[in-house]
Amino acid sequence: MRILVVEDDKDLNRQLVSALEEAGYVVDKAFDGEEGHFLGDTEPYDMVILDLGLPEMDGISVLEQWRRDKRTMPVLILTARDRWSDKVAGIDAGADDYVAKPFHMEEILARVRALLRRASGNATSELECGKLLVDTKGARVLYDGTAIKMTSLEYRLLSYLIHHKGKVVSRTELVEHLYDQDFDRDSNTIEVFVGRLRKKIPASLIRTVRGLGYCLTEPDNEG
Ligand code: CA
Repeated sequence: MRILVVEDDKDLNRQLVSALEEAGYVVDKAFDGEEGHFLGDTEPYDMVILDLGLPEMDGISVLEQWRRDKRTMPVLILTARDRWSDKVAGIDAGADDYVAKPFHMEEILARVRALLRRASGNATSELECGKLLVDTKGARVLYDGTAIKMTSLEYRLLSYLIHHKGKVVSRTELVEHLYDQDFDRDSNTIEVFVGRLRKKIPASLIRTVRGLGYCLTEPDNEG
């Protein structure tokens, strides 16, 4: 899952990015409203963390503009403490949730998980597909109760597929959501990683839909 962080405080931006990356997300960052607006307008993010007090273009304007242009990704806004009017303005502008500063990183991570799973129609942080379980809280994968070791890219790939269970996901979409903007994107590498995943979990769980992409589906009959 790919997340955009828009925060002008350099230290805070860095802390958010590293905590999110550690939790297994791909993260892009922006330090002012204009850059943030541009990235959110042109790149397909799974969600955005948006500070309201930003140089160049304030967070509320960024959000209003995105929503006017039908950008529907979940947005978590960061507000100043005790500024209840900011929260109201942010939610009215189209924010899905807010966290007041100063915050504990754990709270941000919990809200990020909640927004991502709600956006994909899941009720808990544990996503299942047959005997396969992806625990998005602990960034763990289990099959039939046994933990499976994954590299961070394998985990990101599987996590994206299980968040979109039953839907066909194209290779282009995977490339866009698994790598950050600076990565040299090559959709052939996706095939390699799907191949590796299929050696770790039953290969039949990830169907290749010729010409379209991949689909994680519940098996009819798990052996
Ligand atoms: Ca700020």
